[in-house]
Amino acid sequence: MNIVIIGAGIGGLSAACLLAKEGHSVTVLEKNDQVGGKMNELTADGFRFDTGPSLFTMPYILDELFQRCGTSLDEQLELVPLDINCRYFYRDGTRMDNHTDPELMKAELNRIAPEDTDAYFSFLKYAESLDKKTRDTFVRNPLYDLSGLKNLDLLSFFGIDAFTTVSKRVDSRFQSPYLRQFFKRFTTYNGSSPYQAPATLNVIPHIEINEGGYYVKGGLYSVAKSLLELANSLGINFLFNSPVDRIHVMERQVKGVETSAGKLLECDLVVANSDASETIINLLDDQAVSRKKKRKTAQIEPSCSGFVLLLGIDKTYNKLIHHNIFFSEDYKQEFRDIFDKKIMPDDPTIYIANTSYSDPEHAPEGSSNLFILVNAPYLSDSYNWSESEYGDKVIKDLETRGLSDLSKHIVFRDEITPQDFYDHYLSNKGSIYGTSSNNRFSAFVRPRNKFREIEGLYFVGGSTHPGGGIPLVVQSAMNVMELVKRFG
Ligand SMILES: Cc1cc2nc3c(=O)[nH]c(=O)nc-3n(C[C@H](O)[C@H](O)[C@H](O)COP(=O)(O)OP(=O)(O)OC[C@H]3O[C@@H](n4cnc5c(N)ncnc54)[C@H](O)[C@@H]3O)c2cc1C
Repeated sequence: MNIVIIGAGIGGLSAACLLAKEGHSVTVLEKNDQVGGKMNELTADGFRFDTGPSLFTMPYILDELFQRCGTSLDEQLELVPLDINCRYFYRDGTRMDNHTDPELMKAELNRIAPEDTDAYFSFLKYAESLDKKTRDTFVRNPLYDLSGLKNLDLLSFFGIDAFTTVSKRVDSRFQSPYLRQFFKRFTTYNGSSPYQAPATLNVIPHIEINEGGYYVKGGLYSVAKSLLELANSLGINFLFNSPVDRIHVMERQVKGVETSAGKLLECDLVVANSDASETIINLLDDQAVSRKKKRKTAQIEPSCSGFVLLLGIDKTYNKLIHHNIFFSEDYKQEFRDIFDKKIMPDDPTIYIANTSYSDPEHAPEGSSNLFILVNAPYLSDSYNWSESEYGDKVIKDLETRGLSDLSKHIVFRDEITPQDFYDHYLSNKGSIYGTSSNNRFSAFVRPRNKFREIEGLYFVGGSTHPGGGIPLVVQSAMNVMELVKRFG
């Protein structure tokens, strides 16, 4: 078949490789001049930054994709395991290292929260049990129609802890405020609030802590580069600087796409890696899809966005390791600001990835490349980025939180706002993880990988099932492949 893929993000690249390997003729139309989408990189003044993802998890999913295409993760990428998953700085000056070695972690817990040492390990077992109940039935399953539910074991399904929130479950298991804040943090990995999302998302600590979180040698953008190389070896055709304006449909059947420059490409099948909501609302006209469907799609809540500050500094801070979190004082207020008021938090949790810690060539000698991320609301009228001085605020905050004289050491600075995430990648309201999981039904309203209303239209990427983050995006491409085989 002749297949057009809209977008060369991780989802588009993964789907392109799988489909080309099956013998289809694949053309990828990308709005920008390079692959990777939100996985991107920036090099300036001797510094190198990943500007999107900084943590790689569930490597076996990308490995499966590579294997299906005749290679392997080991051949393509060098994964760097970290001894300490992340260093946490609390507002009262307490510091906690989340060691990957259970014995070292036990000692760390006995130091800062001895009352919860056992609870930490039993919580990880509970997280693992959630993974067992959800992985094959939900995450690694297109769940397109009733046949997708055939393997669903109802007893397991009711054990997925969907009837309470992440926060309530965590509070019920821990006394220590340090561990409560620590375990609530993982819900942000899919852009949701721990105070609203179902406790099922407590599976995420299992993914990072039990299974392992990795850095990729050279930077996370190496993942995009390796997929591009694979795509080129499979003969996939790329057209860059080619934003698609419209998907042509006749009698509920995809016929082709049209770029903003008026170029028409006929095809049998379209796989949209463009944000699913944006695609349904803006790329399909009212004859192709009903206004009611568009209205419903517009109601799906996006995930949160992010504010990114990239700082090249002419020093190293001994207290910073590869991944670092500076927690806010009042976590609940922070999420109220982001998801209810839709404003930037006054007292934010600040994440810093300092890849020059593991990859010294990412900064000149004696210097550091700081990728600083603060969770941000998706775009709305409640916050105006064009007048924001949030970057200055974050720098001042970090100075009071232990990075003394940070402002005096900045030799390179850049910022990426939610508006930029929209402008560059056309992600729905600047969201960075697709749709939110802020209620127990969210997972079921997220667009499926095959569009029911139009034959030949498929969706891949973080805004579709099973959700955002690199591994799930790759999984969505495998779902597309399975559905294309089934339905054509
Ligand atoms: C700051 C940040 C930090 C993150 N941290 C992590 C992390 O640590 N770990 C992790 O696993 N995930 C992380 N994520 C999430 C992860 O980056 C995304 O889930 C994933 O990269 C999304 O890939 P995608 O293919 O779904 O979409 P995208 O990357 O958005 O790709 C979509 C592509 O489609 C193109 N496009 C859109 N519309 C059109 C159109 N009309 N015509 C042509 N082209 C179009 C876009 O330009 C883009 O290239 C992070 C994201 C961000 C932004």
